[in-house]
Amino acid sequence: MEYGVAPESPSAANEWLEKNKGKFNLYFDGKWQTPLSKKYFDTINPANKKTLAKIAEANATDVDKAVKAAKKALPKWVKLGAHGRARYLYAIARQIQKHSRLFAVLESMDNGKPIRESRDIDIPLVARHFYHHAGWAQLRDTELKDYKEIGVIAQIIPWNFPLLMLAWKIAPALAMGNTVVLKPAEFTSLTALLFAELCDEIGLPAGVVNIITGDGKTGAAMVNHPSVDKIAFTGSTDVGRIIRRATAGTGKKISLELGGKSPFIVFEDADLDSVVEGVVDAIWFNQGQVCCAGSRLLVQESIAERLYAKIRNRMEKLRVGDSLDKSIDIGAIVAPVQLQVIEKLVQQGVDEGGNMWQPSWSCPVEGYFYPPTLFTDVTPAATIAQVEIFGPVLVAMTFRTHPEAIRLANNTRYGLAASIWTENINLALDVAPKIKAGTVWINCTNVFDAASGFGGYRESGFGREGGKEGLYEYVKLRSEESHTAKKTALKKNAASESSSSDLPAIDRTTKLYVGGKQVRPDSGYSLTIKNGAGKSIATVGLGNRKDIRNAVEAAHAAESWTSMSGHARAQVLYYIAENLYIREDEFIKRLMQFGLSKTDASKEVSMSIERIYTYAAYADKYDGSVHHTLSRNVTLAMPEPLGVLGIVCPEEAPLLAFVSSVIPAIAMGNRVVVVPSETAPLSATDLYQIFETSDLPGGVVNIVTGVRDELSAVLANHDDVDGLWYFGTLEGSKLIENAAAENMKRTWVNFGKQRDWSENHAGEHEFFLRNATQIKNIWIPYGE
Ligand code: NDP
Repeated sequence: MEYGVAPESPSAANEWLEKNKGKFNLYFDGKWQTPLSKKYFDTINPANKKTLAKIAEANATDVDKAVKAAKKALPKWVKLGAHGRARYLYAIARQIQKHSRLFAVLESMDNGKPIRESRDIDIPLVARHFYHHAGWAQLRDTELKDYKEIGVIAQIIPWNFPLLMLAWKIAPALAMGNTVVLKPAEFTSLTALLFAELCDEIGLPAGVVNIITGDGKTGAAMVNHPSVDKIAFTGSTDVGRIIRRATAGTGKKISLELGGKSPFIVFEDADLDSVVEGVVDAIWFNQGQVCCAGSRLLVQESIAERLYAKIRNRMEKLRVGDSLDKSIDIGAIVAPVQLQVIEKLVQQGVDEGGNMWQPSWSCPVEGYFYPPTLFTDVTPAATIAQVEIFGPVLVAMTFRTHPEAIRLANNTRYGLAASIWTENINLALDVAPKIKAGTVWINCTNVFDAASGFGGYRESGFGREGGKEGLYEYVKLRSEESHTAKKTALKKNAASESSSSDLPAIDRTTKLYVGGKQVRPDSGYSLTIKNGAGKSIATVGLGNRKDIRNAVEAAHAAESWTSMSGHARAQVLYYIAENLYIREDEFIKRLMQFGLSKTDASKEVSMSIERIYTYAAYADKYDGSVHHTLSRNVTLAMPEPLGVLGIVCPEEAPLLAFVSSVIPAIAMGNRVVVVPSETAPLSATDLYQIFETSDLPGGVVNIVTGVRDELSAVLANHDDVDGLWYFGTLEGSKLIENAAAENMKRTWVNFGKQRDWSENHAGEHEFFLRNATQIKNIWIPYGE
């Protein structure tokens, strides 16, 4: 029996298009504005290739006006307060619900996605996101007391979930008190324009939300605008890199949600019928144009052929067709250029020896359609196993053992999501922490909710959207404003304690500390260290590129530190504090050599001991949460360490700044490569013996002395360094952010501004722990 068509009527959407005469201007400062370029581009329905409307192309001057409107609106929006903003967000949510069908139909027409998906998934999630964030708006001052809004946020979104991505961006930004300028993707601007109309209808103050349409050049003008305080971007890793580089050193905050090549791992005891439906959701949802699509099917060898047969059987029954037909499974590809990308990569897969299978039926010819496709016999290094195809193409590989499954899953530069299929809960929960990805779904896939954070590890970008963790992307610490650009490095007054004897001191050349051992620098050179009076008092090893590489290798080898319990790590940290206390006098004298008074030096040492206590205490207390996501799941939000972290210490507070940055990082399970103060590294090198006597495993803390900016550049360019904290100059900060774009390392730089390490709001804060970790959300089926 043939399926009949079950068409959804486009009439309401067509009426709306006609009402606007099929032509849309820009929306900023609460008004519809003609673009200065006077240029418009067509947006089409990819299911039938018909033009839907003409969309304005904003140039840099239009962008400037929109940013100015957002800036002008900011003070009043801030002053409105938490409850006032919550009321507006609630009104938006209500309005979306009231017009939900119009939004769904328009989305499907513009993007090509099945109406079933836009009606039942995209738009309900949009409303949910605004409701949820109306709540966060209300609670901002209670839940995030130490934080305030960032300012004007530029938001750039892709075409795969146009309105949902808008909601993910605008809802948290407004809730935290910011104003926004948002650019939808060129292929799919319509629902963002309808959203602008809705903002008008509810009387949202002018300039709080501004919608600018245009292409990549418009996006670039937003990124480069000097009054933009933060950029939130979702799209390709290539453009993410451009944005990282363009903003390096500017002080603009960024969050990037980029591509993925997510593994869908099936163990031999999985319920294969559920797996097949999971595969349909993983790779044929939204035509596979999903950043977290389960595009790599990893199957245990013993069940592979059986599973492939079931999948092929299911594929044969899938229906591709007009997005407004309620009975289709797969809609149209968004645009001809995307279709060409898919066709090219599939051909490459065949050329590289993959076994390609497609159903026997053919796709309709009226639009841009592509059939569901399965590749088997693919090698892990094949292009289609590594590159994001962003289409309905599933690439299958097999594994024999659990460790092999984990290795294969992590064999990608991305880290957005993963799903694990097994009936064995122990196995699922053993594998979940070993996968390097921001979201792990157990026996489910592609489930989203406003209460859970979403975002990547590695080259899938950084930052989270949704959940409490997502709010931090739209706030800054109030104390940031107290950091100054003035240089108060080391006091240049004479050392308060100089050697009482005229005899030459016993020569002391401090080595580097790598892998738990004191090692000579590769260069064979040393750096002379002078005291506050300018007298040479010691030499330290002059570290170079090779030493940093060795230190990174040693840090990687110390992986067992990460799997130790927080309690066990805390014991080591307390022991470090205890040993520092025993040698307090020695450390005080050392600081006095660099010009500190006895009182100040004593204060710095005792604060250091206290800080170690603080982070030892946090080691087993900075935990995650269980998010209230959809009823059939609980979602564990687990803070995980970044991995190997570079830390470049400032010149000032040579002991306290070292302790205040290194100890929280290792408390969270990171292994670190530290470049201590260049001019006063001896407080750090004195710690070698303390570390050695405190049971700190070798390789957890590695210290390379030398020229700060040379060493930090090596760390920034190192592909095996996962994150980098830098407390130095503005130029150094720029260099770090620029170089970090290559492997998308998480950076935290100070743009040449000094913090007062002795103040707890600047030198001891949960913020250090937040920067030392990233949240993984693990979705576990729960309840009915
Ligand atoms: P892009 O990254 O090019 O586009 C994303 C957004 O960025 C769009 O709004 C785009 O504008 C804008 N943009 C493009 N260039 C710049 C720039 N230099 N500065 C600022 N903004 C810019 O993705 P594409 O749409 O070209 O898709 C290409 C590939 O990216 C896909 O095949 C897929 O692999 C991946 N992708 C990943 C997504 C994800 O969710 N992770 C989403 C979409 C794509 P405009 O649309 O006008 O060009």
